[in-house]
Amino acid sequence: MKEKIHPKYEEVEVHCVCGNTFKTGSTKKEIRVEICSACHPYFTGAQRQVEVGGRAEKFRKKYGLK
Ligand SMILES: [Zn+2]
Repeated sequence: MKEKIHPKYEEVEVHCVCGNTFKTGSTKKEIRVEICSACHPYFTGAQRQVEVGGRAEKFRKKYGLK
């Protein structure tokens, strides 16, 4: 019997240059991005209102983002 070899798919922390961090699934140990759901131009319009008070988490959940 052969063991299937595949990269470990785990939950990793993604670090964005805007300072936001969030979890996602990846085979990498750490991910750095330059844009995320908190600073992406598409989101910033609505984000601006929920960002105050650190409620970005709720915002992401609302839109099903991780
Ligand atoms: Zn960001």
